[in-house]
Amino acid sequence: MRILLVEDEPGLIVTLTDRLVSEGYEVTSSTDGPSGLEAAATGEFDLVLLDVMLPKKNGYDVARDLRQKGVSTPILMLTAKGETIDKVLGLKLGADDYLTKPFEMMELLARIEVLLRRSHERAPQQPNGEFRFGNIGVDFRRAEVTRDNSPLELSAMEFRLLQFFIENRGTVHSRDDLLDAVWGYDAMPTTRTVDVHIAWLRQKLEENPRHPQFIQTVHGMGYKFVV
Ligand code: CA
Repeated sequence: MRILLVEDEPGLIVTLTDRLVSEGYEVTSSTDGPSGLEAAATGEFDLVLLDVMLPKKNGYDVARDLRQKGVSTPILMLTAKGETIDKVLGLKLGADDYLTKPFEMMELLARIEVLLRRSHERAPQQPNGEFRFGNIGVDFRRAEVTRDNSPLELSAMEFRLLQFFIENRGTVHSRDDLLDAVWGYDAMPTTRTVDVHIAWLRQKLEENPRHPQFIQTVHGMGYKFVV
């Protein structure tokens, strides 16, 4: 498992790297925001440990930009003591969890394990990066979708929505959750946008779009992807 550590305190970099390596992780570190974002955007890491106060670009901006690039690597933010409101902001911008400095090493290791396990469970089952349901095939690496093995044209937003559904299948998502997760924090679409995109996706994926089998409406709550 590869961990990217984005942190500017030399002492903490040494301490964390030593401990994580002794636990069997492969650790790479970046010491400022832009280089951290560049490394994380390669998608080569299983987890990002992201400090908030960083030179040149803070951790919130790094998390937001990473999610806007469509990279879903789990992010564990490291915040300074007492930054309660900032923690909430961090989670809203795409972090998966946060830890307040100073923290116990055992707690950090436990949080890392939970995030890695969770993202592993969410990942597509097939080792070649493909996910199949019904007569639909989704190739995540090439961002291609097929129906009965023929190419299906999906817009970038439809693909992101489908990917989110697949990664979070079985869970009910409100329209607001979908807006935050798929359209992003800075976007200003309305919940009507979600309904329109769902309708388009159903037209393309469902055998009978009026009686959807995969993208189900949960009345009064939102939508759920079921396979
Ligand atoms: Ca710092």
